Amino acid sequence: MLIIVLLVCFLWNAATAPAWATSDDTLRQIHALIPSHARSYSQICQLLGQLDHASSLVTLESLGQSYQGHPIWLVTATDPNYSSDEKIRLFIIARQHGTECAGTTATLALVQYLAESSSTVPAQLLRYFEISAVPVANPDGCIAGRRTNGQYVDLNRDWGKFTQPETQAIRAAILHRRPHAVIDLHELPEANRKLSYSENFIETIGNSDSLPKLLCANTIAASHDICYWMKAYGYPLNVYYDYPGDSLALCHRYWGLNQGIPSFLCESKTGGGRSLPERAGFHLLAILGIINYLGRQHLAPTRVGSEVMTTSQPLPPPPTEIPLTLTIRLEPVANGDNNTDLAVCTQVEGSGQFGFVAVKVDGTTKLLTTQRTERYLLDTSRLSGGQHYISAELHSKSGTRLATQQETFPIPLSDIQVAK
Ligand SMILES: [Zn+2]
Repeated sequence: MLIIVLLVCFLWNAATAPAWATSDDTLRQIHALIPSHARSYSQICQLLGQLDHASSLVTLESLGQSYQGHPIWLVTATDPNYSSDEKIRLFIIARQHGTECAGTTATLALVQYLAESSSTVPAQLLRYFEISAVPVANPDGCIAGRRTNGQYVDLNRDWGKFTQPETQAIRAAILHRRPHAVIDLHELPEANRKLSYSENFIETIGNSDSLPKLLCANTIAASHDICYWMKAYGYPLNVYYDYPGDSLALCHRYWGLNQGIPSFLCESKTGGGRSLPERAGFHLLAILGIINYLGRQHLAPTRVGSEVMTTSQPLPPPPTEIPLTLTIRLEPVANGDNNTDLAVCTQVEGSGQFGFVAVKVDGTTKLLTTQRTERYLLDTSRLSGGQHYISAELHSKSGTRLATQQETFPIPLSDIQVAK
């Protein structure tokens, strides 16, 4: 199905694609390397060995051993003739949860393309980038077919604590490489009914006064880019944001909120007939979108071959027959704790194209969604007493704000606040 989407998008994108990463031809070539069914752990190890020998641009090393003694492989793609210090360094982690195979599959397809393609793209890209990837962060869980590692620990709740050999080994590798961005790849269970698990999503660092300005600017600009590409290739996407105070036990929050590195959690939705190539395609597009963003951010255009990176051109406004309209509606939702949460329902109508809808609470962005209809569940227990402003903003594909709708929502003052 993705290939059909790619073909449909080809002409539309040809005039506007800002980078090699999103060149349809390159994406199609990488996507063609995705198998229809997940590889076993031993097949993954065999492929990694093959890629290590296939090209001087790809090297394989073991970071250490899992709880049950399996190697934790790190594969690095870069041109060793140029200094790592001068490169844009990206660190990808896949499969902290042993059953979530789409991120592993996408990572392997990308590395295989970089090792084996006869095109000029790998050499051009890896002159400027160092891409390090742990394709299977949890070998024990991958082999056993379960979420946790050999000690029954959920590795993506172990960051900051570092009680497990897997998180310790990966942490040391990331500290050593000082990446410009960290990407952590996961999959969402089909059966989970949580509203935020209803569709593919990316989670990254939100805009907060108590965080470094450049960190927030980078994560938010990158998430806008990713929305653009997901929409172009027909992948529904929500983007959620993290703020100081959120648990650091999750990998991307540890590196983002604690260590100040732009970090991204990518989750592909499973079930509903979504094939492995479709789910892995989501991860591939997220990785390439971030590579593309980093390239534009860190490389002066004069240093880059035109085939590799060009500057994004704003899109012309699409022909619109029925003007786009945006509505916002607040729905109280009982949450079972004698408390009421709030569903923020947004809807875009009309026949035109748009980029995404942003949901803000008191001016702080909580969600970007590429979907016409979305229901975002707001935890009101974290809001102080008084009047709050909840707004939805409709953005065009080039990021221009087209419309804003706002509602107010009162939270009763607590006894303490009334006494003040
Ligand atoms: Zn996961």
